[in-house]
Parts: sequence; C-alpha cells; structure tokens
Amino acid sequence: MIGILFGPPGSGKGTQAQMAARRFALPHVSTGTILREEVERKSELGRQVAPLLDKGELVPDSLILEIVGKHLEEERSRGALLDGFPRTVAQASGLLSMLKEHGLTIFAVVALDVPEGVLEGRILKRGEIEHRSDDNEESFLRRMAEYREKTAPVLSYLETQGITVHHIDGDGSIESVADKLSSLFCSVGLAPVA
Ligand code: AMP
Repeated sequence: MIGILFGPPGSGKGTQAQMAARRFALPHVSTGTILREEVERKSELGRQVAPLLDKGELVPDSLILEIVGKHLEEERSRGALLDGFPRTVAQASGLLSMLKEHGLTIFAVVALDVPEGVLEGRILKRGEIEHRSDDNEESFLRRMAEYREKTAPVLSYLETQGITVHHIDGDGSIESVADKLSSLFCSVGLAPVA
C-alpha cells in the first residue's frame, strides 16, 4: 500500500509525512531527504545533484525513478508513504508502472493546500533555523515555478488515471493538519499504531 503526500515547497509535507509514517507504521520515503543525504555524503550522485538542489531545480526523472524504484523494491511488503515524489508527469507514469510491477496499490493521494504568501514566510523562517541551502528567496521562487510548471499537472494526470486526489487545508497548526490527515487515512482503511 502506497500513500502519496503532495504539496508546494513549505506546505509541510515533510513534517506531516514523518508524523503520519510513525502513526501508521509506514516507511517514509522523501526524495528530497534522500538527495540531501547524498549531497552530505559527497557521493557521486550527491555531487551531481547539489547544484540543482541549491538553485531549486528538479533533478532528472531517470535519477529519481531509479532511487524510488530501489526503495519500493526494499519496502515491497510494508508499502511506503511517498513525500516529494512524483514531481513530474513522467515520474508519475513511471511510478504507476513500478507499482504494477511490484503488485502495490495506492491507498491515498493527498495534496496539502497552502496560500503562496504563507509558503514563502515558512520557507524563509526555516532557512534561518535549519540553514537548508535552498531555503532562500531566489531558490524558493524557482521551486515555486518548477511546482507550477511541472508538479501541479501531476494531480490532473493522476485523476485521468482514475486516482482520486484528496485535498487538505494545510494552512493550520501542525497538529490540526496531522489530525485531518490521520482521519483521512483512517477513512480509507488504515489503522493507526501510535
Ligand atoms: P524537497 O525536500 O521535497 O523540498 O526537495 C528538495 C529538492 O530536491 C527539490 O527542490 C529538487 O531539487 C530535489 N527533488 C526532490 N524530490 C524530487 C523529485 N521527485 N524530482 C526531482 N527533484 C526532486
């Protein structure tokens, strides 16, 4: 069983995915976190993607599909909660093929809706606290442009494939959004363990 958490930069998908993964005992697969770890380790892949992450540009689909494919292979029996993936229609189409191959199904696609003005404030605040290399005004604008151009169309693509996209208002406290997400997961048949 695969869940997908979807949203623009600063929508809180990382935080919410982490909390929901714990609550429902699902492996949390965040492509952004995986890439940042590669950059930190200074691996070959890390060196290749670091400039793209810094600028707020998307990493090539082939690299991302390879990374996610490995994780899905490893977590085949437990499923996963995907955060930050798929981010392009090509990634979404690749994901659907991989799910078919591994006999996995999607239990929910959830989009976190947050007004753009709120997003920018959150990103700049996180930049001051966590010092992420892409949490600055310039990279934020690039990430928003990438989101609008390449990621937002994924939602209508999934709908054309017969997959329902649930929308949650993400402009609230962390706890209130987490509660709404938990209720949604329970309503589609998941049982919380924590
Ligand atoms: P995130 O932590 O999800 O905000 O991702 C941070 C950065 O990692 C993005 O701005 C992209 O440069 C890269 N990235 C993460 N996930 C993907 C993906 N699915 N496709 C392409 N690039 C990605």
